[in-house]
Amino acid sequence: MSWHIDSETLERYASGGTTSAVAASAEAHLTGCADCQARLVPAVDTARLDAIWAGVEARVDRVSLPWLDRTLVRCGISEETARLLAATPSLTASWLAAIAAAVVFAVVAADSSAKGLAVFLTLAPMLPVAGVAAAYGREADPAYELAVASPYSLLRLLLVRSVAVVGTTIALTAVGGLLLADSGWRAAAWLLPALALSAVTLALSARVAPVWAGGAVLTGWLGTVVTAWQVTGNRLAPFGDVGQVVALVVTGLALTVLVANRSDFAYDTRRSA
Ligand SMILES: [Zn+2]
Repeated sequence: MSWHIDSETLERYASGGTTSAVAASAEAHLTGCADCQARLVPAVDTARLDAIWAGVEARVDRVSLPWLDRTLVRCGISEETARLLAATPSLTASWLAAIAAAVVFAVVAADSSAKGLAVFLTLAPMLPVAGVAAAYGREADPAYELAVASPYSLLRLLLVRSVAVVGTTIALTAVGGLLLADSGWRAAAWLLPALALSAVTLALSARVAPVWAGGAVLTGWLGTVVTAWQVTGNRLAPFGDVGQVVALVVTGLALTVLVANRSDFAYDTRRSA
C-alpha cells in the first residue's frame, strides 16, 4: 500500500459523515488494507452499527408480504420459494391494481366493433409481458441484491416468478374477457399471443435485462399488429387462425431457446451484478 486513509477521514467515515464518493473510496481501500481496518475499529460507534443492522433486518423482513407468504406456504410451496415469490415486484397489490385497471380500460374500449375488440386483443397480451419484465432484475426489484445472494437458481427464480405473474395476469384478463362473451371465441384470441410474448420475453432475458427484453417484445408486438392490419386491411387479422398458429409456433421456439440457453442466466446475472 502506497497510501493510507488519514485519521480525520477515517473518523468521519466511521461516523457516517463523509460523502458517498469518499465512503466508496474508503471502502475500496479498507477491503484490502489490514492497517486501516485496525485503525477503523476503535473509531466505530457500535450503537450506530447496531442501529444500521436493525434497519437492514427490518427492511429485509418487510420485503415479503406476510399474508402472501403464508398463503403460498399453505399451498405447499417451500418457505424459501414463497419468500422470493412474495417479493416479486409485479405481484404486489399496487401492480395487480394497475393490471385490473388496464383490463377495465381494455374491456370498456372493446365495444362490439372490430376496432374495439382489436384494442382489447392488442392490449391484453401486453399485460403479462409487463409483469415478466418487472418480475426480476436490478431495474425492477428492490430486493434484487437479496435474490442474487440467495442460494437459488436464477433461472428457476425467474421461471417461478414469471409463471406466477403470467398466471395471475391472465386470470385477471380472462375475467375481463368474459364480459366480452358476445364476441364469441375471438374474445379469447389474446391468450396464445400472451403466452408467446411472455415466452419470448423470458428467452430474451438470457441475454439482456428482463426490462429491456419486455420493451423489445412489446415494440415488436405493436409493430406486428399494425403491419398485419395495414397489409390485410383487417384490424383483427393478427388474431385470426394464422395468427394463433404463429403464436403457438413462437411459444414453442421461445421455450426451446430458453431451455437451450439456460446456462446463460447465471452468467448474465453474475456479469451485471
Ligand atoms: Zn490503509
